[in-house]
Amino acid sequence: MPEKNISRSVPLSPVEIRLRDELRADVHTLAVEIGERNMARYPQLNAAADFIENSFSRSGLRSRRDTYELDGRACHNIEAEIRGARPEILLVAAHYDSVFGSPGANDNGSGVAAMLALARRFAGKPADQTLRFVAFVNEEPPYFQTSQMGSFVYAGRCKARGDQISAMISLETIGYFSDAPRSQTYPIPAIGAFYPRTGNFIGFVANLHSRALLRRAIALFRQQGKLPSEGAALPSFIPGVAWSDQWSFWQHGYPGIMITDTAPFRYPDYHSVTDTPEKLDYTRFALVVSGVEKVIQGLAGSPR
Ligand SMILES: [Zn+2]
Repeated sequence: MPEKNISRSVPLSPVEIRLRDELRADVHTLAVEIGERNMARYPQLNAAADFIENSFSRSGLRSRRDTYELDGRACHNIEAEIRGARPEILLVAAHYDSVFGSPGANDNGSGVAAMLALARRFAGKPADQTLRFVAFVNEEPPYFQTSQMGSFVYAGRCKARGDQISAMISLETIGYFSDAPRSQTYPIPAIGAFYPRTGNFIGFVANLHSRALLRRAIALFRQQGKLPSEGAALPSFIPGVAWSDQWSFWQHGYPGIMITDTAPFRYPDYHSVTDTPEKLDYTRFALVVSGVEKVIQGLAGSPR
């Protein structure tokens, strides 16, 4: 099927082309072969968990299921850690459930595919900081921003154990771009006044407490220089700012940012049965992921 968004961005390097093909394949597995995956589609939710575990394992990473019970059924967050020289943890995560009624290609097959591709690239290459790649269950309603949200359970356990998480990066709906005028909207006009009207950039979003992390991350991303990016550190009550797993880490006092194409503020197929793989722009999606690779390298540092 032809891609709807023909990218106007610069050509991809051979490494980025390989990355693009990996992303396309994993989004297809999640959104087409597995399909809708949530507590109403519990076998599919578990199939997605198995797929993620197998992907970590093929990268040479040993993963661990962090399990909790919800309505009498086991739910799994899945983590793979690459121990660094220091105990501080840089955590890169994406939720693998999809909202009821949606195959979740962009939300959040894109985030999971990106997280897995990044884990593949850092496997066997320890950084100064410890890297942790995590797939979260039950991000979507009715668990969204409740104590049953997968990332909330997980972040609470991190806090209880005393895990030193120096930064959490939430990859949330990152594959849709548009060059059409006025394709980008904003939760409130006061924000829109300062940002582009064309949805051709990737967004970095933080709460005020995480603004230093946001600034460092976006500066590292911009070293790549192939895809426009915008950053905003905003009060978390503004609609959209807390709309993913970074919220759970904020609740436990950890700094976190969300990287996103802004989802409902741009993507016409958000939370819909039509959130399907051909809506994604895999060229620009690959540039997002290769830019985030630079962010992780910069934040985690090289081993001394
Ligand atoms: Zn989502």
